Amino acid sequence: MVKQIRWKCEQCGNGLLAPSRPRKNDVRRYCLPCSAKSGKLVERIAPALQKKSERKQIQRKQLVAKRRERIALSPKTYENNYRKYLTKYSNGWHIQSEAEKIWKLFEPYHNGKPMPTIKIWFNKMEFDYTEAKQSGDPNDVKVWKYPRGSLGHAEYWSNEIMLKTSCSWKTLAHELCHMAVRSRYKDGRRKAHDEVFYKALKDVCERRWKKHISFHEVTKYGYAVDRIIEKQIEPEVSAWVKQQADKNKHKKPIPLHIIKREEA
Ligand SMILES: [Zn+2]
Ligand SMILES: [Zn+2]
Repeated sequence: MVKQIRWKCEQCGNGLLAPSRPRKNDVRRYCLPCSAKSGKLVERIAPALQKKSERKQIQRKQLVAKRRERIALSPKTYENNYRKYLTKYSNGWHIQSEAEKIWKLFEPYHNGKPMPTIKIWFNKMEFDYTEAKQSGDPNDVKVWKYPRGSLGHAEYWSNEIMLKTSCSWKTLAHELCHMAVRSRYKDGRRKAHDEVFYKALKDVCERRWKKHISFHEVTKYGYAVDRIIEKQIEPEVSAWVKQQADKNKHKKPIPLHIIKREEA
C-alpha cells in the first residue's frame, strides 16, 4: 500500500489522508465543499510536501550560489592582490617603515641623505590551490617563489635599492648599508664589502637589536661576515618577524573563493 499523508484545505481546514502523489484528477486533491462555494476548484495542500519543497528550494539556491562562486573563483585577482601585498610586506613586516628605521640608525654614516627608494622585484611565483580546495582552508594555498641570483641590489646613481619579494631583514639592512657607506677604491678596484661596510652594518645591527655582536670569528672581510652577524641576531630577528607577521596577518590577502565557500 502507498504511504498516506495528510492533505488539508487552506480555506476550511478540513483534510484527509491520501497518497503523496495522487492523480491529477483524483478527487482527494480538492476540497469539494469549498470548490462548490467559490465556483472554482480549491486545491488541498500537503504540509509535509510543502516543507520538503521549501528545503529543496533552499538547497537549490545554495547550489546556484556555490556555482556562481566557483565562476567568481578568480585566482588571478588573488594573485594580483598577493603581489601587491608582497610589495609592502615582506614576511609579514612592513618594508618601508622598517627601512626608515634602519636608515635613521645609519645616519652617522650617510649624514642625513634621503632614504633610497625601495623597489621590489618579483620572483617567479607559482600558486598551488590543490590542498586549499580540498580542505577549504585558505592558509593551505601554497605560494612557491623561485629566487634567482642575488636577493638584493643597491644602485648608487639612482639612489634605489632593489629587493626580491619576501626579502629578509638582513638583506634590507645590507643594501641600505651600501647606500649609507658607499664604496671605496683601492688600487683602482672597487671595495664594497670591506671593513668600513661591515663595521657600519654591525653597529646598526647592534643598535637595532640592542645586542652586542662579536667579530672574533672574522678573519677576512667579505660575505662570510654577513653570516657571522646574522647568526648572532637570529633569535631577535626571528622573534620580531613572527610577532610582526601575527600583527599584520589580516593584511595578507586570502583567496576569496575559499572564504565565500566557508561562509555559505
Ligand atoms: Zn475546504
Ligand atoms: Zn653587498
